[in-house]
Amino acid sequence: MSVNRRFLLARRPHGIPVQQDFSFVEQAVPDAPSGGFVVRNCYASLDPAQRGWMDDAPSYMPPIPLGDPVRASTIGVVTASKSPDFNVGDWVLGLNGLEDYSVNGTGGFTMKVDVSQIESPSRFLSAMGAVGLTAYFGLTDVAKPKPGETLLVSGAAGAVGSAVGQIGKIMGARVIGIAGGEAKCRRLIEDYGFDVAIDYKGKSVDQLAAEIRAAAPGGVDVVFENVGGDVMDAALLNLAKHARIVLCGLISEYNSPTKIGARNLWSILAQQATLYGYLIMDYAPRFAEGGAVMAGWMAEGRLRIDEDVQEGLENAYDAFMRLFSGANTGKLVLKIADGL
Ligand code: NDP
Repeated sequence: MSVNRRFLLARRPHGIPVQQDFSFVEQAVPDAPSGGFVVRNCYASLDPAQRGWMDDAPSYMPPIPLGDPVRASTIGVVTASKSPDFNVGDWVLGLNGLEDYSVNGTGGFTMKVDVSQIESPSRFLSAMGAVGLTAYFGLTDVAKPKPGETLLVSGAAGAVGSAVGQIGKIMGARVIGIAGGEAKCRRLIEDYGFDVAIDYKGKSVDQLAAEIRAAAPGGVDVVFENVGGDVMDAALLNLAKHARIVLCGLISEYNSPTKIGARNLWSILAQQATLYGYLIMDYAPRFAEGGAVMAGWMAEGRLRIDEDVQEGLENAYDAFMRLFSGANTGKLVLKIADGL
């Protein structure tokens, strides 16, 4: 391919992103810079976090500059190199952009990966990538559920949530999942082995809280929070004494210019609970270690990681929006090209 197709951030979205917030351009394929390399992106990770990076607001990463490609974790193949460490043909994972070709890795975790033993390179964006490992380290290193404890996870049918529930089961916890709609709740039980599934759609905080209470009369020991807003408020009303809350994401607020926030903070105090602000970035040096455990569990049939693979860079907008409509069935990945 002689052109570099790029999905650029044209302006900052206000609320739910619209197509006009982006532009799709064709530019020349870049040359490898001195000491660097060019990667042909084959799969890109589509993540709720990208919505936050589109805002001009203080965060753990700088906003995506207007006119730049939308920042994304990608996996691809080196096509040109002036680096002593990366050769043409190497598979590389990195924080790049939604584009055919990226120069070097602009982010902090560029690494070579071996794709020869896995069914698809996209596995490095799901099970063995940041998303699967968010679940893994969030449970094994932060919340540390003990056998017999109750774990509540929101966004439970999604990429992080479905892995959290299954790892919770592996660790011996009783697992309750909250997800949107009957079909997703059925999948929690049948596909992912959750003990209880609760549908949050159309329910008030009080109704949701009552359903959680019915499922966990003694309270919830660990909350793995992916959603925020009303769902988190209902969870806070059901904390067991000394509960741990892993604040992993607040997707219900990402498109909302006015943030709802959590209103039942009093419960954290009353139950002497601990709230952890949690980001996977800190665990980048341990990705290989966590990925090996995840791969082992999958090989043993104890862990199922579904991927929702959408095709074509030109479909990036429609694919990205699946995260906010709830259409994605598993880790959302955009396939840009086959491996070389
Ligand atoms: P998912 O695969 O879970 O997809 C997003 C899901 O969120 C949708 O399918 C939908 O499920 C649900 N959702 C969307 N909008 C709303 C809403 N308004 N209210 C309630 N639920 C909604 O995405 P990920 O697994 O990639 O991400 C899940 C969470 O984890 C996000 O909050 C993300 O920011 C966070 N995260 C945090 C990381 C960290 O380091 N802290 C790293 C990676 C992810 P449904 O149909 O059930 O509504």
